[in-house]
Amino acid sequence: MRLLFVKDFLDLIFPRNCELCTRALFDYEFCLCTICEGKLPITSYHLRATDNDLKDKLQGLTRVSRVLAFLKFTKNGKTQRLLHQLKYRNKPQVGYYLGKKYGQLLLKQDYSKSWDCIVPVPLHRMKLKRRGYNQSEEFAKGLAESLGIQIENILERIVATETQTKKSRLERMGNVEEVFQLKSSISVQNRNILLVDDVITTGATLCSSANVLLANGAKNVDLATIAAGGKI
Ligand SMILES: [Zn+2]
Repeated sequence: MRLLFVKDFLDLIFPRNCELCTRALFDYEFCLCTICEGKLPITSYHLRATDNDLKDKLQGLTRVSRVLAFLKFTKNGKTQRLLHQLKYRNKPQVGYYLGKKYGQLLLKQDYSKSWDCIVPVPLHRMKLKRRGYNQSEEFAKGLAESLGIQIENILERIVATETQTKKSRLERMGNVEEVFQLKSSISVQNRNILLVDDVITTGATLCSSANVLLANGAKNVDLATIAAGGKI
């Protein structure tokens, strides 16, 4: 009874609202109301992960096996608004929520046996300090919980030195000043990895980080993002 009172009191001071329509949430709802959740623009990439337009787009840039994206991206649409909340409105819970939902969907398709660990694409440490969290890691946390697979933060994003910036096709496409590397004394030998990021646009960031894992002996790398296409 006492606990219930405290909860009601907290709800009064910090009301929980749907991140899309702002309606007050019921106790059993988290992040989105049931109506908005039912209208999420879910893709069908999980049904054809080895053969889809995202995979085609990365042809010749990396040799990942499967490419997945949870939501369709449309300008000013639901996905863009959720990503905006996640990245710029200090709402890490949006990433966790979407990861959890996507994980439940992937679990139904038997994906959980595919991976030994989930690796989020890292932010540069200065950016991480500024934002306070890595949005890709928040998405990874939700996926990890639903799929029962652990997260491993084994990549780091560093400013490229001169020798690392021999401009490859990938680097010309993406962020040339920053590159990825495996943290020291980490082994990915023979591991099946799900690499996750918030959005896939050109694919440059994901390909660069996937290639680091593959070059260090990962057996297989698959990619999953919250959304495909568009800029936030
Ligand atoms: Zn809503």
